Amino acid sequence: MTADNLFLRIARGELPADIVYRDELVTAFRDIDPQAPVHVLIVPNHHVASIAEAGPDDEPVLGRLFLAARSVAEQEGLAEGGYRLIVNCGAHGGQEVEHLHLHLLGGEPLGPMRCRRKEH
Ligand code: 5GP
Repeated sequence: MTADNLFLRIARGELPADIVYRDELVTAFRDIDPQAPVHVLIVPNHHVASIAEAGPDDEPVLGRLFLAARSVAEQEGLAEGGYRLIVNCGAHGGQEVEHLHLHLLGGEPLGPMRCRRKEH
């Protein structure tokens, strides 16, 4: 199976995942290799390879990804302490799966967003 249809197949219910939220536009499920006590991925139910590939027709689903993330954050008890939303894009962004996904991370202080660059 190619990496680019893995999340689409999860969203369609064709592959197992720990699904925490689903509506007509997006599906949210727990990351298989969590980087925080709560680590959920929210993905469109139709194929969008990355944010770089999204077009005007995808605007409703892009908004829904964020609103679904907020709902899941509340559901997971993260609203008070706060949380982080991340979208990786392309090779430099560290995107490994070629289906747009929003990472929701929380459940403990997450520290700085990234390691400081080394001085050259
Ligand atoms: P990326 O690096 O593309 O932004 O993030 C991909 C994420 O997908 C990683 O955090 C990785 O742990 C997660 N992941 C990869 N394969 C699977 C899978 O089969 N199931 C689930 N639930 N998560 C996956």
